[in-house]
Amino acid sequence: MTETLFCYCCRVHHQKDQMRLFPTRQGYRWRCVRSIEAAFRSRRERDSFGRQQTEINRQEAQRAAESADRLRRALALVT
Ligand SMILES: [Zn+2]
Repeated sequence: MTETLFCYCCRVHHQKDQMRLFPTRQGYRWRCVRSIEAAFRSRRERDSFGRQQTEINRQEAQRAAESADRLRRALALVT
């Protein structure tokens, strides 16, 4: 006989070996590994998207500074 537990996240029963006690505001509740991993993955993706955007902004600022510098040097040559 296989034991199942109610998953508060999916609102269905899963096999007990796929279940983990997960801390919630109401205390520890059973939640399946799949839904926990999915939640962590989407958070990581959001974080890495934020980092990418920061990096893009930084590179943009650097490029703008470099081209302003090049322009200044070019003007210094002709004047
Ligand atoms: Zn579940």
